[in-house]
Amino acid sequence: MTTPQFRPALASIPAYKAGKPPAAGKAASYKLSSNENPYPPLPGVIAAAARAAETLNRYPDMAVSRLHTALADKYGVDVGQIASGAGSVAVFYHLLQAMCAAGDEVVYAWRSFEAYPIAVGLTGACGVPVPVDDAGRHDLPAMAAAVTDRTKVLVVCTPNNPTGPAVHGDELLRLIDAVPPSVLVAIDEAYHEFVDDPEVPDALEVARGRDNVVVLRTFSKAYGLAGLRVGYAVGPAPVAEAIRKCALPFGVSSIAQETAIASLQAEAELMQRVEALKVERARIAAALIDQGWQVPSPQGNFVWLALGDESDEFAAACDDMGVSVRPFAGDGVRITIGEPQANDLLLTATDKWLRDRG
Ligand SMILES: *Cc1c(COP(=O)(O)O)cnc(C)c1O
Repeated sequence: MTTPQFRPALASIPAYKAGKPPAAGKAASYKLSSNENPYPPLPGVIAAAARAAETLNRYPDMAVSRLHTALADKYGVDVGQIASGAGSVAVFYHLLQAMCAAGDEVVYAWRSFEAYPIAVGLTGACGVPVPVDDAGRHDLPAMAAAVTDRTKVLVVCTPNNPTGPAVHGDELLRLIDAVPPSVLVAIDEAYHEFVDDPEVPDALEVARGRDNVVVLRTFSKAYGLAGLRVGYAVGPAPVAEAIRKCALPFGVSSIAQETAIASLQAEAELMQRVEALKVERARIAAALIDQGWQVPSPQGNFVWLALGDESDEFAAACDDMGVSVRPFAGDGVRITIGEPQANDLLLTATDKWLRDRG
């Protein structure tokens, strides 16, 4: 062997594909491909970032104390039950690193968040994808049945990225009762703030008092801080401690810590924006259904069109109209709810698509 040799697990790991920016040169161009929040940060959040920037010669608070305390207060948990990282994807990586070794298994729904197979593969563990049903919902009984004595973690993505529906309370409790207490149930609630289905529980309430349930949340979506990378886990203290042990030292920058705190303080204003996005989501979903599309219950800040083999072609047609969307080849297309003009352009594109096909 003449060159450095990588771990065999790497060969089978897909690359993370980020949503494309809009094509250049269009009269209007909008990015609806990465589930970002279209609103700019609130003025107080920018001011907090500027203040934190004054001490960039220093390392951040490694314990992330003030943010963890603010989150613990918000949720009524002990500060030891919180762990954070550079986005909740990082927290998920740390969680898997804490739980999994080669030969272990991680059960998740599929199609779901594309980071899961990558993160699982990197640990050397084996991903066990369980197909979502025709409505894009998790098949929780099938997921429970996929648990073996090698299963370390079972991931529930609710609302599910990219298909949209969220898991209901009764089915979630049945799942948790069905899996052995040694299996950690990780509930990814990246889009929790956008949910309006009354059957969907707050997973933090489900996790409360249970030793094998942990919840992941992020500041990237509803809170609009995708560029700063900060997310967190709330769960049993031993699980949070294990995640903190695996975390990259100083992984959450001081700007990220301070803006996250400022966002929690500006929550009322932020949640007004989330409400406006939910109104837009309802408008877009209704208009799509009117045009003749089937739209799985959209509980995040995005809608899903199961275009199958036409997904890439549809995304290219949207590109031509000046909106970039996110195709998952062979499966469907995920479209973020953006600013109203962007959403209108999208509806023009979907209408044209159907007309062109007679
Ligand atoms: C966006 C997203 C996350 C969080 O991403 P970060 O920016 O790393 O916090 C986690 N899970 C799902 C399903 C997501 O879509």
